Amino acid sequence: MKIVRGYKTELDLNNVQRTACLKHAGAARYAYNWGLSRYQEEYVAGRKTPNAISLHKELNALKSTEFPWMYEVSKCAPQEALRNLQKAFENFFRKCKLKKLGKHRGKCGYPKFKTKRKGIGSFRLTGTIHVYENAIQLPRIGKIRLKEAGYLPCDGKVLSATVSEKAGRWYVSVQIEEEMLDPIPATGKVIGVDLGVKTLATTSEAETFENPKALRKNLKKLARLGRRHSRKVKGSKNRKKAARKLARMHARIANIRQNAIHQATTALAKTKPRVIVLEDLNVKGMMASRKLARAVGDVGMSEFKRQLTYKAIEHGSTVNTVSRWFPSSKTCSCCGWVDEDQKLEDRVFVCLDCGYVADRDYNGAKNLAQTEQDLSRLA
Ligand SMILES: [Zn+2]
Repeated sequence: MKIVRGYKTELDLNNVQRTACLKHAGAARYAYNWGLSRYQEEYVAGRKTPNAISLHKELNALKSTEFPWMYEVSKCAPQEALRNLQKAFENFFRKCKLKKLGKHRGKCGYPKFKTKRKGIGSFRLTGTIHVYENAIQLPRIGKIRLKEAGYLPCDGKVLSATVSEKAGRWYVSVQIEEEMLDPIPATGKVIGVDLGVKTLATTSEAETFENPKALRKNLKKLARLGRRHSRKVKGSKNRKKAARKLARMHARIANIRQNAIHQATTALAKTKPRVIVLEDLNVKGMMASRKLARAVGDVGMSEFKRQLTYKAIEHGSTVNTVSRWFPSSKTCSCCGWVDEDQKLEDRVFVCLDCGYVADRDYNGAKNLAQTEQDLSRLA
């Protein structure tokens, strides 16, 4: 079975390469914005709206007269940016359709113009890309050193490479097509995993994965840096400096969280459970617990689910999702009694029927695991 995997790692750019990357990202952003305004012109005029291919043709025709500077960068950068634009419109129309059917809440996400102020951005390259032990060869930019040696797989077909910048650091994300042997079906236990705000995850085997301590500490620092930033005079140098510090802290927190999720999901997948039962995420319910939920919960939980799903499948496990309406944390995992008066802050589950007492998340995880056992009994 062929699978496509993404690998993201940090680049070690020299000054020439950094300039080249900035130019490529600039060209990609420019092409995206140009494409978006062309799209809007055609739409307003009542004509057929252009797609990525027709936009790229038009852009190429204008290149020599209007944008001669674009010859300095790989032709992939603007081309892939226009593809991204088309994808953005497709996503927008898909969500509009879902919204009409009542299956989507919130915004549909009409494509926005990209701005330099929100970050340098990224660009994608295709074509001849070579991966070495400690470097990557990209078209037009050349061989770039990697900060971590031996992470990118040298065998396998490289489909594309996306270079991006975040808080002063540069990364490359490589899409690699790999041959994967069909996994042997796992024969372990059925486990339920309760994802939470306070603890990252609790399993029905009473295993818990805590949020890293550094996260909480840095969230406090983040709030402080945010306040400092907002107090600086708009447009001043000090405000820019404060913004850079704030962005670095945001990136650091994101890295700590991502690392914790990777470690937990890998550990879980490696135990090779037969079935993993997760709860369909109830983001709205999470939002009810305000601040901490917003900072730690919402991003982390869907990412946890995404990682656990792909890792579990590679280890031969099945991942099942239980409807968000199933009261997993309110139900007694011993006798089935439902605590209708439970509050979000109740950390301990107490059954008033059979006297069972357990950690709330653990009780929830056990209920999730039991849904699967009920199903297999019926089958
Ligand atoms: Zn009970």
